[in-house]
Amino acid sequence: MKKIGVVGTENMLDLLVRALEYFESDYKIEQRVLVDGECRDTEKIHEIVMMSDMEFLVIASDKEDYFLYEDLVKRAADAKEREVKIRFLHPYLKYIHHFHLFDYEKLFLDREDYANSIDYLEFHVTDNCNLNCKGCAHFSNIVSRKKNTDFHSWEKDMLRLKELVDNIYTIRIMGGEPFLNPELGKFVAKTREIFPQSMIHVVSNGMLLHKVSKDIFQTIRANDVTIDISYYPEVDRDKVVEILEAENLKYRVSTVSTDEFLKYMNLKGDSDISRAYACCDFKECHFLYEGKVSPCAFPLLVKYFNEYFHESLDIRCGIDLYSPQLEKGMLRELLNRPVDACRYCAIDKEPIPWEGHCLDADRSDWCVEGEKTWKG
Ligand code: SF4
Ligand code: SF4
Repeated sequence: MKKIGVVGTENMLDLLVRALEYFESDYKIEQRVLVDGECRDTEKIHEIVMMSDMEFLVIASDKEDYFLYEDLVKRAADAKEREVKIRFLHPYLKYIHHFHLFDYEKLFLDREDYANSIDYLEFHVTDNCNLNCKGCAHFSNIVSRKKNTDFHSWEKDMLRLKELVDNIYTIRIMGGEPFLNPELGKFVAKTREIFPQSMIHVVSNGMLLHKVSKDIFQTIRANDVTIDISYYPEVDRDKVVEILEAENLKYRVSTVSTDEFLKYMNLKGDSDISRAYACCDFKECHFLYEGKVSPCAFPLLVKYFNEYFHESLDIRCGIDLYSPQLEKGMLRELLNRPVDACRYCAIDKEPIPWEGHCLDADRSDWCVEGEKTWKG
């Protein structure tokens, strides 16, 4: 049994305990220190540092403060003239509740791997959808033309990303509805080839699964990819699960369907950027699109809103993957901070009942009432 110490926030500590318990792993958490924000409880950290039979110490945070806590541990170790092996906890843990889907051998990362990697990335294989939900956050219901992602340009972008990061812990292949693109299998296989260590997911509403070819399912299985089903009222959950089970696929599907979305746009563009970012649920949904990455999909897809409503939201965001200034190790930091587009996001979101097949859209499907300043 290997003994480990953990310095981390409550959520991540809980998750780690549950993950280790689930797997009856060789690791035992011998001592832990709870940290939060500006933790200065150096006495407890000294205690953990001095555990003589500790294999290594894990830094585990859900607040992106890994380096702050690492610094605290290092200072404690220096004061005690003690060498401590430090590992970082795989950040993906905070997104999952299905520990059986997790490769627990990959839980503990070294510093270089963590610093040169990003936690999450999603990309579209198509901007179109068959369900066309009212207020789709990716604007799929107002994409007025067929728009599948060009495989070769995307592949070039992914190879460029591979130059910039060692790993992307979680990659989600989505849209729109990804099963609308007959080339989905190519995207899946190439994603696995470029990022062999990533947790890869295909995100679908499940409504086309009965039409999917055996070959595509085989590619998904062969590349160890999980299917995430976004469960909407129109989706026949039992049927979806039956297909996924019959095909022996790894999958996640929630038990309760989504019955509302949140309006999140402020057309005036005068939101306080820091506050909008701080209360945003999309800020960790890092998005790749046509040679750029950004903290979320909004700045890179809002062009569809502009086109449909003849608006001109001036959003020049997105990190150009081919900028000569961009170097390996920079993306983690660049993707985890507010961008100019945050001023178009409302601080107080408003619920809107879920509705499918909504091609006749209105600005108010996305924009909060309090900010009703649009033209016309
Ligand atoms: S299922 Fe709905 S929310 Fe998801 S991509 Fe399609 S239109 Fe958008
Ligand atoms: S632009 Fe900023 S506030 Fe708006 S969704 Fe993206 S990260 Fe969130």
